[in-house]
Amino acid sequence: MSQFRRQSLVAYGEPLRETFADRPAPRGSEVLVRVACCGVCHSDLHVQDGYFSLGGDRRLDITKDRALPFTLGHEIAGVIEAAGESAEGVVLGREVAVYPWIGCGACAACRAGEENMCSAHRHLGVGADGGFATYVLVPHPRYLIDYAPLPASFAGPLMCSGLTAYAALSRLRSHAERGPVLLVGLGGVGMMGLALARALFRQPPLVADIDPEKRQAALAAGAAQAFDPADPQARRAVIAATRGGLYAVCDFVGSDKSLEFATGILARGGKVVVSGLLGGSFSFPAAMIAIKAIAIEGTLTGTLAQAREVIALARSGQIAPIPTQARPLDEAQAALEDLRAGRVVGRTVLAI
Ligand SMILES: [Zn+2]
Ligand SMILES: [Zn+2]
Repeated sequence: MSQFRRQSLVAYGEPLRETFADRPAPRGSEVLVRVACCGVCHSDLHVQDGYFSLGGDRRLDITKDRALPFTLGHEIAGVIEAAGESAEGVVLGREVAVYPWIGCGACAACRAGEENMCSAHRHLGVGADGGFATYVLVPHPRYLIDYAPLPASFAGPLMCSGLTAYAALSRLRSHAERGPVLLVGLGGVGMMGLALARALFRQPPLVADIDPEKRQAALAAGAAQAFDPADPQARRAVIAATRGGLYAVCDFVGSDKSLEFATGILARGGKVVVSGLLGGSFSFPAAMIAIKAIAIEGTLTGTLAQAREVIALARSGQIAPIPTQARPLDEAQAALEDLRAGRVVGRTVLAI
């Protein structure tokens, strides 16, 4: 039995620290998973900060309902180690991805299968201890998804970056029949979006990012064309390339600048799906919403059913793996800092 080591948030805005605890003992329907890999996600930075930026000096405080020390990490893949007495159908030693967006089970969202939208949630790595640790406790076996023969370093990130991109693209299926999808922001979610868009849609997607290295990586991964949204000519170039604008845009950044860009290149009847959480605030001429009949829609991770769909798609070999670097657990803080500084192409996973 290995030790229960964690990289914990001990104070908001402070570096993670290594902490030790007794290995959790699963009770009832709980399952203990020995973590093999946990992806490092941009939203881990927000939890570490303790707030989301709402533009200007305004902040959304997210420090309540979380006891410190707290373990971040929600892109978890591992091996079933132990189970409580009423956890049914559990096979010890099986490799599983952990669906982290666990709800209360009782509210209207949960009853509709949207535990990711639960307001009394127990999301792993957000509201309950997550996967920057040697073990994670999962409340019920239904949140565990077989992923063989995929590598754990691919399966873990499918639970957030893969799922988020999949749920966002799922909201654009009918729009994508009219033309290519444009993906704005090529971080971990954007690169997953590219791989998924190639699997789901007839036309290869267009991409936009301010970082030339990320644009290059996207072109190498099959993007049809790449644009720099910071280039003042970019809007005109996109509209020319699409003969009048886009019907389907995914904004994986979620900042004032990315949304200005995304809404500025829509065709009539076009739609932007926003999954990014970078922050800021933006304005849009109100009459143009009706005149152009556009839609701006938000999406937050995805449902358990969608998590099963995205894993099934990956297991069938239809999603090309994105560039992934593995680092040891004790480099969690360094990995977060690299992500914050924009130094990461693709995904970083902690190999535990
Ligand atoms: Zn995430
Ligand atoms: Zn709920």
